Amino acid sequence: MNCCNEKPVIELYSGEKLCKNHFTYYFQNKVFKTIRQFELLGKEENLGVALSGGKDSLTVLHLLIRLSQQNPKIKINAIAIDEGIKGYRDKTLEKAKEFCNQNNIKLNIFSYKEEFGLTLDEMLEILDIKPCSICGIFRRYLLNKKSKELKLTKLATGHNLDDECQSILMNQLKNSIEASARLGPKVGLIHDDKFVQRIKPLYLCTEKEVTTYAFVNGLLDEFNECPNVPQSFRAQVRDMLNSMEQKFPGTKYSIVNSFLQILPLLKQQFKGEALKVCLKCNEPSANDVCNTCVYLEKLKRKIEVR
Ligand code: SF4
Ligand code: ZN
Repeated sequence: MNCCNEKPVIELYSGEKLCKNHFTYYFQNKVFKTIRQFELLGKEENLGVALSGGKDSLTVLHLLIRLSQQNPKIKINAIAIDEGIKGYRDKTLEKAKEFCNQNNIKLNIFSYKEEFGLTLDEMLEILDIKPCSICGIFRRYLLNKKSKELKLTKLATGHNLDDECQSILMNQLKNSIEASARLGPKVGLIHDDKFVQRIKPLYLCTEKEVTTYAFVNGLLDEFNECPNVPQSFRAQVRDMLNSMEQKFPGTKYSIVNSFLQILPLLKQQFKGEALKVCLKCNEPSANDVCNTCVYLEKLKRKIEVR
């Protein structure tokens, strides 16, 4: 069923086909409703937006800028991490810089090279490890540390419904139920000054919707994907979910909606765990020494014996 006489830009899983204007209205409404429903923002925020220059983060920044224009007590800063992935991150960072310049947003860029001494590409030449496992750990570490230094009250990320679905399933497949307890539109189990609360305004938007929004609203004109994606476990889970969604439309919504029903119980179950800090860097950690420091030590040892 078409929304009107205009050419449709997307077919929703319900079968409804929406034109650019109706879809833009639908999408923006969905994001602003998510922010209200899950109380993602307070009345006053020094909000950070994790910006990679890809479709998800550009979309979330674009919408949060609109929100801050309506409410000047919501201040927006962008924060980008340059992992050092040649031919990929350099391109998306250019897009991030251009977008921030056009919208008068301060962009804070931090790189693995400056913070850890090596780019991700260089680390992968030294350690025999799947790229995403080390990259994700370092990025989360830097985002949290730098958000604290910038005195951000919250950090919005571009995670969408597909990302959440993949994380839920990956945790099930790896028997990591505690990791699932940290998921949700508001990330984490406890409030602590050592963590800057991460929020996901695109939580209920599918990847297809976000991609369509970014392209039809001119936020992006080309699609870039990290060359390391095919090596990741996430990519396998993503393909499986996409195939299920194609056969059984609505699968992803069902997974996230049922997860949201058990999430309060999961958070309750695990919130008693005391927060530790890493003995080496004083950042939050599940163990005595955090994964970032463990990997940095491994890299250092490998370099010494070279
Ligand atoms: Fe890093 Fe993996 Fe994401 Fe590439 S896909 S940026 S390697 S986490
Ligand atoms: Zn540490």
